[in-house]
Amino acid sequence: MSSFDDIVESTSDVATDDEHDPEGHTIAWERQQVAALLDETRTALTDIEAAEQRLDNGLYGTCTTCGLEIPVERLDALPATPACVNCAR
Ligand SMILES: [Zn+2]
Repeated sequence: MSSFDDIVESTSDVATDDEHDPEGHTIAWERQQVAALLDETRTALTDIEAAEQRLDNGLYGTCTTCGLEIPVERLDALPATPACVNCAR
């Protein structure tokens, strides 16, 4: 899996040879990868902001679906998760 920086770098390297590099991916493909990364990051950010809000409201660690407490081990692994294991399934 390429990092954002790797993709940006390789994209600028081949910027003048669009679609014709037999070794690499096309710029269109790379752009798609970057867009997917950005989407993922935006989703993660939304989750984190929602978790912050629950923290402010004193509801952090409480499942937003069933209202039960989310186990600490789960919060350690997924600090921004809004749901307990049962409800996340
Ligand atoms: Zn739940």
